[in-house]
Amino acid sequence: MTPHNDETALLADADRRALKYLDSLPRRPVFPAQQAIAGLKALDQPFREQGIAAKEVLRLLDDIASPATVSSNGSRYFGFVIGATLPAAAAAERLVLAWDQCASSFDNSPAIDRIERIAGHWVLDALGLPRNSAVGFGTSATACTLACLSAARRSLLARKDWDFDGDGLIGAPEIRVVVSASVHITVKKALRVLGFGMNRLVIAPVDEHGRIDPLQLPALDDMTILCLQAGEVNTGEFDPFGTLIPKAKAAGAWVHVDGAFGLWARASSSAELVEGVELADSWTTDGHKWLNTPYDGAMAICRDADALATAMNSDAAYATASKDAQKNLTLEFSRRARGIPIWAALASLGREGLRQMIDNHIRQASHLAECLRAAGYQVLNRVVLNQVLVRADTDQQTTAIRLAAQASGQVWFGPTVWQGRPAFRLSISSWRTTDADIKLLADLLIRLKQEITD
Ligand SMILES: *Cc1c(COP(=O)(O)O)cnc(C)c1O
Repeated sequence: MTPHNDETALLADADRRALKYLDSLPRRPVFPAQQAIAGLKALDQPFREQGIAAKEVLRLLDDIASPATVSSNGSRYFGFVIGATLPAAAAAERLVLAWDQCASSFDNSPAIDRIERIAGHWVLDALGLPRNSAVGFGTSATACTLACLSAARRSLLARKDWDFDGDGLIGAPEIRVVVSASVHITVKKALRVLGFGMNRLVIAPVDEHGRIDPLQLPALDDMTILCLQAGEVNTGEFDPFGTLIPKAKAAGAWVHVDGAFGLWARASSSAELVEGVELADSWTTDGHKWLNTPYDGAMAICRDADALATAMNSDAAYATASKDAQKNLTLEFSRRARGIPIWAALASLGREGLRQMIDNHIRQASHLAECLRAAGYQVLNRVVLNQVLVRADTDQQTTAIRLAAQASGQVWFGPTVWQGRPAFRLSISSWRTTDADIKLLADLLIRLKQEITD
């Protein structure tokens, strides 16, 4: 019994089903109906002794799971900063699956090694970051932050002649970590996993926009890692890089920037918002959010290429590779060729297409904010980017409107808490989102505000 009964027909069937799914995106509820979710129970079978035909496996998945998916690849998903997938990136991913390359190094896959190098150069070019930086294509901003922060720690300790690889942390000179009061939870996770205790983090106070206030910046020295942020998750705002980074560099600190989505503003007409970010030591950003590539695709970028390459090295006698092979720049050893859809997205957009996509979302966000303000909503942020932070007249009304919008199946967005009170967060990051989608969202929210009163 071989599981590959008629591979050609099976993959053609998968493509047919995938296309049908994409076709249905405009019509399906953005969040699945309760019934579809309950239907997933049908898949909850004991592990069988005998496998079932692959064709049947696919049918089960499509019939049962497709209706229970969230339409985050559609045009009216405004939750988190999710992004859809660009056609070129999705198509490239299909080829990546057929190639099934172990994209560790040149020896494993010359093609991937070369293309990911090119993708790395393009990313640095698009984001205006130092051209000799190392670019590791990892699974997520979380994983890439972990990689960058381990490079940071190892480098700071090496400056004090401490051999981190040999002697580890016990007895090592202490490193202070300064983070913003609105630091993203995944930066904290990376720090926690690396052994920087949460109680020892030094918190930099932020202003009303969620940006570090330079006047209240804690003391920095040459044993400090300063974590800054490009794109605060609620407001979309940026730490004042132009002021903070030169100060940190003068003190000898390592500056890391979490730019999971916001760093892409560098490629837009609003690049001035992110001025000075290029002076940092390391950056993380996602492909799977604003660049609209598939999961899992993110980048660890490090000015000192050797610092990342030594921290992440995984050469063994049986598996040596160049210093800058992807397995030596990321947490993964065997890895998916995740730089390929990123290359494909950048190749298909070009500098101008990328700028237009980002500009478009920023413009749509600001238009949406205007419509909502005019309808009596409080827009709590300045809407400099693609995030719109909203509150209705009362906390109850804010929550009830969000729940009603979610239940409508027409849109989806999530809650947040801003300055201690409930709000909701509208995020525009799908290449599919048209001005008509924005109008639909605004009209729905305006209607719900009239209908739902306390
Ligand atoms: C999403 C996000 C992250 C984490 O990115 P993942 O790719 O999901 O790990 C980090 N920082 C910010 C600001 C984010 O929006």
